[in-house]
Amino acid sequence: MAKELNVAVIGGGYAGMAAAVTLAARGVKVTVLESSRQLGGRARGVPYSNQHPHADNEAAPPFQLPPDGRKSNRPLHENNLMLDNGQHILLGCYRHTLHLIEKTGGNIEQDFLRLPLQLTLHPRFELKAPRLPAPLHLLVGLLGAKGLSFSACLRAARFMLAMRFKGFRLAHDISAHELLRAHGQDEELIRLLWEPICISALNTPIHMASAQVLLNVLRDSLNGSRADSDMLLPRLNFTALFPQRAAQYLAQRGDTVLTSCAVEAIIPHGDEVELLTTQGSASYSHVICAASPASSARLFRAVPELAGVAKQITAIRYQPIYTVYLQYPAHVKLAQPMLGLDRCYTQWLFDKGQIAAQPGLIAAVISAEGLHQELSHEQLAQKVVQELREHLGIDTLPLWHKVIAEKRATFACEVNLHRPAHTTPLPNVLLAGDFTANDYPATLEGAVISGMQCSAHLFSGHTN
Ligand SMILES: Cc1cc2nc3c(=O)[nH]c(=O)nc-3n(C[C@H](O)[C@H](O)[C@H](O)COP(=O)(O)OP(=O)(O)OC[C@H]3O[C@@H](n4cnc5c(N)ncnc54)[C@H](O)[C@@H]3O)c2cc1C
Repeated sequence: MAKELNVAVIGGGYAGMAAAVTLAARGVKVTVLESSRQLGGRARGVPYSNQHPHADNEAAPPFQLPPDGRKSNRPLHENNLMLDNGQHILLGCYRHTLHLIEKTGGNIEQDFLRLPLQLTLHPRFELKAPRLPAPLHLLVGLLGAKGLSFSACLRAARFMLAMRFKGFRLAHDISAHELLRAHGQDEELIRLLWEPICISALNTPIHMASAQVLLNVLRDSLNGSRADSDMLLPRLNFTALFPQRAAQYLAQRGDTVLTSCAVEAIIPHGDEVELLTTQGSASYSHVICAASPASSARLFRAVPELAGVAKQITAIRYQPIYTVYLQYPAHVKLAQPMLGLDRCYTQWLFDKGQIAAQPGLIAAVISAEGLHQELSHEQLAQKVVQELREHLGIDTLPLWHKVIAEKRATFACEVNLHRPAHTTPLPNVLLAGDFTANDYPATLEGAVISGMQCSAHLFSGHTN
């Protein structure tokens, strides 16, 4: 029966490619239609040339690849390299994403730098989970955290135990900040420990963020096996890591991936759905719409049966993520591959030399809304350079910088957010994407799960 399915997937991000691979693995004919020239969506590699007209500091001296003979991460030619649209971290508990990366030819231990759970807010706070069985690793890590009083560490550990006892479920959703305060976490403890975790995981300020979704993340990352809390930093760019491999996997099975092919309209005709695209039109038995929320809403709004879903998507609000790339001379290194700064514009720093063989390249990440949005890109880059000088003693000036501002990086993961379901009033149109209903905030894992759930739904209706 599965052979009779002829499925179109709109969008070649992680959700769309996850849906397509899962269907193709079961022998279903799949066509992926991606509007961009490149696959990956928000998690994509960005070819960057310092001689590019959009370089943020065009007056800077040209970037030269470091002459140390090491194989650098994807230099395209002398003045080009691959950046990511933003730094992405996976957690050890992101099983669905890791499984699909391996299924399409990846090797997790080679593709990622695996770090045991650690949280450093230089110079104020440091938590390192020892290699002990869970949840002992977390409890010992918390009790040994530097920068907090013993009683604060004890309160943090008690909070985790209390949530574990409740099965990480709340009767009613409240803000993450309210939940933490109700469980004796003082403002200092929240600022140093819980707020960085909340902002990194939910990309939403802690006063707005859903406590239930934060608990879902804590449940899966900190309460499972020790490896679940590992942080996996990619050595490859995010297009190469999965979407590109997924496209090869599909091609090997005779399936199609069309890039530069934007879907402009969804037209249901009974048992079939016609898609109008910039490359012509075609009909399919089913459509999985895995486009961005804004684009999905636009496509659905024009279909009377889907207008209600479009309205629900339109009500979702967004949060930004800014990434400031600074290319220093190759000898510049951070004390560890990833570290945070306390009370700075810069939240997290990634040393791409240690992570991805891009020596001297430092990525500074600023998640969620904040004062940084009032600065121009140039001012923000200067701020980050100044913070690296003042807090880490990096006196050298960067050779170039590039700011990537994703204003709608993720949905705002707010209290009681009503996320759209995978099914729609039309049985042959499904909806995937990180913003659809699942336990996770906007993450690669949430996106991948949504794609796999759409595929599973198609099978549940067509296996007998
Ligand atoms: C800067 C940044 C940092 C992040 N950091 C992390 C992190 O550390 N860890 C983590 O897990 N997650 C992180 N995320 C979130 C993660 O990137 C997203 O949750 C995930 O990529 C969403 O995937 P998606 O497939 O649902 O949507 P998208 O990636 O938005 O994919 C949608 C695709 O649909 C295409 N499309 C849109 N309209 C059309 C159309 N009409 N026709 C055809 N194609 C169309 C788009 O071009 C795009 O390729 C981050 C996001 C950003 C922006």
